This record gives sequence, C-alpha cells and structure tokens, in this order.
Amino acid sequence: MFHRVALVTGASRGIGREIALTLCRGNFDIIVASPEVENNETVAEMIRQCGGKAMTLDLDVSSEESVKKGVAEAIKQMGRIDVLVNNAGITRDGLAMRMKAADWSLVLQINLTGAFLVSQAVIPAMIKERWGRIVNIASVVGEMGNAGQANYVASKSGLIGLTKCLAKELASRNITVNAIAPGFIETDMTEVLPKEVKDQMMAAIPLKRFGKPADIANTVKFLASEEANYITGSVLRVNGGMYM
Ligand code: NAP
Repeated sequence: MFHRVALVTGASRGIGREIALTLCRGNFDIIVASPEVENNETVAEMIRQCGGKAMTLDLDVSSEESVKKGVAEAIKQMGRIDVLVNNAGITRDGLAMRMKAADWSLVLQINLTGAFLVSQAVIPAMIKERWGRIVNIASVVGEMGNAGQANYVASKSGLIGLTKCLAKELASRNITVNAIAPGFIETDMTEVLPKEVKDQMMAAIPLKRFGKPADIANTVKFLASEEANYITGSVLRVNGGMYM
C-alpha cells in the first residue's frame, strides 16, 4: 500500500506528538522532528508499535543549518516528503513594555522563521512530486490578539500571513498551504498557566471545555488528505467557539 510521508516539527510532545500518531494511524510514514533525541525516539517507537514507519530527526527549526541538513537527510532516508506540519512553537510571555528583546527574537525565530526555513527546505521535494500539503499550526491569538503575548501573537499572525503567501506561490504546483488556529488546548504549554487565566479562558469558550491535542490532530489529518484538495490559504479555527 502506498504511504505518504509526513514531517512533523515539535513532534516530541503535546499537539505535535498527537499529530504524528494520528497521521500514522491514517497510513502516513512519519519523520519525528524536534531537538530532543530521546523524546523523538519514544514517539518513533510508539509509531512503529502501531505498525507505521518512522524516522527521527534531531531538528532545531531556528537553525538554518540544522534545517538544511535535517531535511536533506530525511529525504535521503524516506525518499520523499509529501506533508509538512509546522507545529514547533514556544512562548515567552510578558507585557510588551517590559519584554526583553531576546524573548521577542527567540519566539519569532522559532515560531515564524522556523516555519519559513523548514517550508523552504521541503518545497523543492513537493514540487518534484507535483503534490504537497503544508499545515501551519498558528493560534487563536494570532487572529484576536492577547495582552502579555506580543511576541507570540506577532509570530502567529505572521504565520497566517506566510500561509497565504505560500498558498498563492505554490497553488500551480498542486501544493496546498493552510493554517490551523487552535484555541486553548491541554498540553505542557497551557498546563503552567495560573488558575485565574484558565477560568477566564473557560468562560469565553461556548463549548465549555478545553481542546485536546486530538482535536487539532484530526484537523491536520483532514487537511493532509486527498479530500481537502480544494482548500488552500485557509485558517481553520479549532477553538470551541472561543473566537468566531
Ligand atoms: P508543547 O507541548 O510546549 O510542545 C512544543 C514542541 O515544540 C515540543 O515538541 C518542543 O520540543 C518543540 N520545539 C520547541 N522548540 C523547538 C525548536 N527550536 N525546533 C524544533 N522543535 C521545537 O506545545 P504544544 O502546546 O503542543 O503546542 C504545539 C503548537 O501548537 C505550537 O506551535 C503552539 O504555539 C501551538 N498552539 C498551542 C496551543 C495550546 O493551547 N497548547 C494553542 C494554540 C496554538 P522539545 O520537546 O524538545 O522541547
């Protein structure tokens, strides 16, 4: 049976890990790409146990060198990359007035420049196959803004802009590029937030529950499928109605 190959950045934990496992169950072979060797291997083993093919890539998306080397190695080993999920992301929250320039730059470098660098490295392989799917994991706050997250929000708004540019540039090559804007999803990233913040968030969610990594992973699976072939340049909101 023909298997497509998906590269998922930040696949060691949280939403990325769930995306990798969900795509694997949908018969994709997976490149598990994040900076931590051991965590990547744990996820790759889970994929193999569910019958899929997996390779690990110790990838730091913020480093052009790591990206170029890593993507070349992945194509060499797996033969192709059909689907890229730009999921790696971090937060360094604080009010803009007091935010350190280093925290601004780091978040932009990983969340936005990282997605650009990995896309740039993967696109030639997709063009060669005349088929491709890029899914960028943005955020609800990239559309609505959020006090205390100027760096993160700028990176996610930027990612939505990048999505639309790539969608226009690559449409003629049969490559679709979409963003998913998750709301509040239960992972390590949100676990650390104070109870008051979580309560405030919950009050703003019409569906009255926080999202699960699977809610995002299932949406990625759909966007990566043949069935989604007429969707490009879109931002899919997966947020329980928090922002409409
Ligand atoms: P998480 O649990 O904190 O996981 C972040 C992942 O990104 C980890 O695998 C981490 O690897 C990886 N990563 C960090 N820096 C990296 C780098 N330089 N290069 C490659 N990988 C790197 O976060 P999450 O909640 O699953 O979030 C995943 C994505 O969804 C992020 O883009 C986030 O902004 C977005 N999102 C999350 C929520 C939410 O509520 N959780 C809402 C909206 C959007 P290590 O394990 O090595 O640290």
